[in-house]
Amino acid sequence: MSAISLRQVRKSYGALQVIHDVDIEIDSGEFLVLVGPSGCGKSTLLRMIAGLEDISGGELSIGGKVVNALPPSDRDIAMVFQDYALYPHMSVRENMAFGLKMRGTEEKIVESSVAKAADILKIQSLLDRLPAQLSGGQRQRVAMGRAIVREPSAFLFDEPLSNLDAALRIEMRLEIAKLHKRMKATTVYVTHDQVEAMTLADRIVVMNRGVIEQIGAPLDLYHKPESLFVARFIGSPT
Ligand code: ADP
Ligand code: MG
Repeated sequence: MSAISLRQVRKSYGALQVIHDVDIEIDSGEFLVLVGPSGCGKSTLLRMIAGLEDISGGELSIGGKVVNALPPSDRDIAMVFQDYALYPHMSVRENMAFGLKMRGTEEKIVESSVAKAADILKIQSLLDRLPAQLSGGQRQRVAMGRAIVREPSAFLFDEPLSNLDAALRIEMRLEIAKLHKRMKATTVYVTHDQVEAMTLADRIVVMNRGVIEQIGAPLDLYHKPESLFVARFIGSPT
């Protein structure tokens, strides 16, 4: 059974169809990277999996259960956004605790879960600060901490590192790889950075105008691109 399954998934905004009959089966624990030019539908696909966007057709399952009509809070997943989306008036601790509190989790368990996540992401010393008092890299760590606090079975990342400078991007890429090794959660990761895609992915999905051009292991795509588009995107010698 796939951890996340998309069958003939479609999305239209009015008359504009932006996702065309996409089929993807994502294995449990897999790190799947979505790449493609700006506007090709990467964020839309991710937002549909998260439940932040309705799907216009097809079937979406998580953990073997069809979730087409389920709200985000009932899907066992967490999303990390490019702009971090932290609550500005809440401390780091409150930001991280928020999702658990909303679920009515016992105070003691909230505390220990936040402490554990803060430990993993090395943000213990930042817990009482407000987001405005953090650097970009620290904010990204908090956003990741907030995602792992609930120990979801899957993570969705939408270009999480694109607002960071080059050095921090490398540091956080290694951090994400380590985190994945440790948590083994199914991950769908959108990026336009070839290095991120090649180094993090078990498989890469190359999208173009709402359709999948090719899906495969990084080296397979690199050595056996099925189109010029994929070759150019992956940076294969042509
Ligand atoms: P990507 O993340 O790959 O850059 P998006 O998923 O954001 O692409 O967008 C895919 C297409 O859908 C684009 O043409 C975009 O303009 C369009 N789109 C995205 N969100 C909306 C919306 N809320 N209303 C109308 N069109 C949208
Ligand atoms: Mg996007």
